[in-house]
Amino acid sequence: MFHTLPEDPSFFALLLKIDQDQAKLTQAAGCACGGRLDRANYPRKPRGCRIELASNFNCRFSFCCDACRKRMTAMSVRFLGRRVYLALVVVLSSSRHAGSNSGAPRLASRLDVPLRTLERWRVWWADAFIRTPLWLVERGAFMPSVDCARLPASLLERFVAPDAQTRLSDMLRFVRPLTVRLILPQPQARANHAS
Ligand SMILES: [Zn+2]
Repeated sequence: MFHTLPEDPSFFALLLKIDQDQAKLTQAAGCACGGRLDRANYPRKPRGCRIELASNFNCRFSFCCDACRKRMTAMSVRFLGRRVYLALVVVLSSSRHAGSNSGAPRLASRLDVPLRTLERWRVWWADAFIRTPLWLVERGAFMPSVDCARLPASLLERFVAPDAQTRLSDMLRFVRPLTVRLILPQPQARANHAS
């Protein structure tokens, strides 16, 4: 049921709406210095989706303070940090890589995700994700505890809803605090933003 989402226009529209709402909240809150936040989006060229859907994902919502010039980037369900692949692809492809048997088994190859990229994501879920402040704080809320060896599939299983769109978007909302404030490790130079 999840495997159709990377090609589902209504799912892309839903994620865009969630990010637009979040960006409004970020802008309305203003800068810590009291300044006004002006729109200063980052252009993105997302990988892992059909070209006609990419227009929903061609920028990351960000702002710049008119007083102190500080950057303020809104949390996102569309992009997981600086990765060029969509967050939904990072979750779904990694879930299959981790042995989940739901949906199409060849999702990653269909979306042109190289095996070495999948391997890098697998290591990130297994090593870096479980050490993030988000996971250290939130993991206790899952009973029984989430099987870290099967992340992210084991986490996605915990978001229960009548439809796949809601389940995946709820999980993307859960991890979206990781998309700001450089909590994610920076991609290595040789990765050239391709992770
Ligand atoms: Zn400011």
